[in-house]
Amino acid sequence: RAREAGGNGWRFYDAAMNREVSERLAMRNGLRKALERREFELHYQPQVELADGRLVGVEALVRWRHPEQGMVAPLRFIPEAEESGLIVPIGKWILREACRQAAAWRAAGLDVPYVAVNLSAVQFQRGDVVLDVLEALSASGLPPQALELELTESVLLHDAEGVLATVRRLRELGVRLSIDDFGTGYSSLAYLQRFPVDKLKIDQSFVSRLGEGEDGRVIVSTIVQLARSLGLGTLAEGVEDEALARQLAGLGCRFGQGYCFGRPMPADGLAEWVAANPARLPAARTPA
Ligand code: C2E
Ligand code: MG
Ligand code: MG
Ligand code: MG
Repeated sequence: RAREAGGNGWRFYDAAMNREVSERLAMRNGLRKALERREFELHYQPQVELADGRLVGVEALVRWRHPEQGMVAPLRFIPEAEESGLIVPIGKWILREACRQAAAWRAAGLDVPYVAVNLSAVQFQRGDVVLDVLEALSASGLPPQALELELTESVLLHDAEGVLATVRRLRELGVRLSIDDFGTGYSSLAYLQRFPVDKLKIDQSFVSRLGEGEDGRVIVSTIVQLARSLGLGTLAEGVEDEALARQLAGLGCRFGQGYCFGRPMPADGLAEWVAANPARLPAARTPA
C-alpha cells in the first residue's frame, strides 16, 4: 500500500514507522514518569455469587490518569509496559496498592473477602513475583487468603518448570489463584492438573455467546464440567444482564462479574455499592 502512494512510497513508509517508534518512546517515557508522579490508580469491580448476588471479592483493574489525555484504559498501555519491562515496577505498585486497599476496607468493617490482582507473564519472566507478593502482604497486613492472583494461560506456557515452581510457592503462601480469560489460550488438561489453581474465569467472549443458542451453551457447560472434575470453581466474566446470570447459574457456574452487577469503580465507591446491593436471598429472586 505504501508503494502505491507513488514515487514517495518508501518515504511514506519510513514516516509511518518513525511515527510508530516515536509514539512508543513517548508512551514509554510517559509510563516511567507516571510511576513517579503517582498517575496510576486502581478501580475495583465486584465479583458475586450468582445464586444470591452476595459479594465474594473484587478485581483490581489499573487505570492511568494521564495529565493531558484523561483516563487511559489498560489495553492502551499494558502492552508497552510489558514490552519495556516497566510492568515489573508498575505491577509491584499494583500489588501493594490493592493489598493496602483491601486491608483498609477490612479495617473499616467492609466485608470484601478478597481482592484479585492481574499478573502479567512478564512479571514471572523478568520480576520476582513471590517477593513482590510477600512484600505487599507484609506491608498491608492483609491475610494471604484475602489476595487472589489472576494468571493468564500464557503465563503457564512460558518456561513451564520455572513458572510451575513459582506458582507452587505462591500457593504455599496461601494466596488464591485463578486463570483469567480461560478458553482463549492454549492450556491443556495436563497443565490444568499440574498447576495448583482454584478457579477458572470463563472468558467474556464465551459468556456473551451464551445468548446466541446451543453452541454457546455447550462451550460454557463444558468448561464448567471440566472445572468441576478438576475440583475448581468457575466465575463468568462479562455478565451484562440478568438473563445471562440466570443461564450461567443454571449451567452450574457459581460466580460472576460484569456490568449487570457493577462496573469497575474507584475504591471509595465500593461501600456505597455494598449498601445498594445487599445479598438477595434466593427466595427473593423467585417469589412464590
Ligand atoms: P481482564 O483481567 O479480563 O479484566 C476484565 C475486563 O473486562 C476489564 O476491562 C473490565 O472492565 C471489563 N468488563 C467487566 N465487566 C464487563 C462487562 O460486563 N462487559 C464488558 N464488555 N466488559 C466488562 P479493563 O479494566 O479495560 O481491563 C482490560 C484488561 O487489561 C484486563 O482484562 C487485563 O488483562 C488488563 N489489566 C487490567 N488491569 C491490570 C493490571 O492491574 N495488571 C495487568 N497486568 N493487567 C491488567
Ligand atoms: Mg482479570
Ligand atoms: Mg479476564
Ligand atoms: Mg477478559
